[in-house]
Amino acid sequence: QARREGKNGVQVFRSSLDVAVHGQLHLETRLRLALQQGGLHLHYQPQVDVRTGQLLGFEALVRWTDTQLGLVSPARFIPLAEEAGLIGELGAWVLNEACRQAAAWGLRVPIAVNVSALEVAQEDFTQQVHATLRRHGLDGGQLKLEVTERLTVQDLQRAARQLAQLQALGVQLSLDDFGTGQSSVSTLLQLPLNELKLDRSLITGLAESPIEQRVVSALISLGRSLNLSVVVEGVETPGQLQVLRDLGCGVVQGYLTGRPGPASMWTPHLNGPLPLQTSVDRAARDGDAQLH
Ligand code: C2E
Ligand code: MG
Ligand code: MG
Ligand code: MG
Repeated sequence: QARREGKNGVQVFRSSLDVAVHGQLHLETRLRLALQQGGLHLHYQPQVDVRTGQLLGFEALVRWTDTQLGLVSPARFIPLAEEAGLIGELGAWVLNEACRQAAAWGLRVPIAVNVSALEVAQEDFTQQVHATLRRHGLDGGQLKLEVTERLTVQDLQRAARQLAQLQALGVQLSLDDFGTGQSSVSTLLQLPLNELKLDRSLITGLAESPIEQRVVSALISLGRSLNLSVVVEGVETPGQLQVLRDLGCGVVQGYLTGRPGPASMWTPHLNGPLPLQTSVDRAARDGDAQLH
């Protein structure tokens, strides 16, 4: 009796493992196909001056809608692309497409592109970025790269060399998700940087929590003292925005000031300040609300 149960247990375990492995392989196959057949696209989310509402930049965020699987979150397929050795190809596509769009817009503010730590550690990364900028006639200053720390110490040193070369071309460097496990104070000492992006988990209760306010205030000061600009991401409520204004935060990005949306959604709003309140309504109508 016990043996049969045990055997059944093993079988149940194996079959669910099979399902997981199969699902992962299927996802990988579909992602390869999407890369080959142009199945990825980009959404753009504005970065906004806290005081004036003026547009200071866009972050490009990759989107994948699979015909079978539907919308797949980048939080799921970026790690998969890294494991499957597809991140180089995917990253090159994202960088090229974001630069193409910035050039087509004649964008005067930088376009921010997320790069995987694995990409940055590649020996030819700087050359690849440089070639992409040239292809679209952009200056280094029109591009910002957002990195997170998911590197071994050796890779971090290699990444630092690549990033310093890019910075010399005028490319701005941002440390994404600062304040989470992915992105720590020690990284600040090791990478050349222009910007800190405070993770949204630090501001969820900002309007009500004096402790969160003190922590965010201290991180803004930390950024200042290192000559870094500080962007707060994930701002969703007017209460959060008010506190950030009071704390002297300069730049915000979040659903409140615009959800990520396709380029066509932003084309009419490239010049002049983004009206903070109406951008919320517009975003609710056109943005990628379904993803979150
Ligand atoms: P991230 O770079 O920190 O991007 C910010 C994420 O927060 C995005 O999720 C964005 O849609 C979401 N977001 C923006 N404002 C708000 C808000 O007010 N509230 C909430 N709850 N969320 C907000 P998304 O697009 O799902 O991307 C998730 C992560 O996937 C990104 O985090 C980034 O690490 C990665 N990623 C996205 N696109 C790319 C890419 O092209 N290349 C690479 N390597 N990674 C990417
Ligand atoms: Mg980012
Ligand atoms: Mg982030
Ligand atoms: Mg993130």
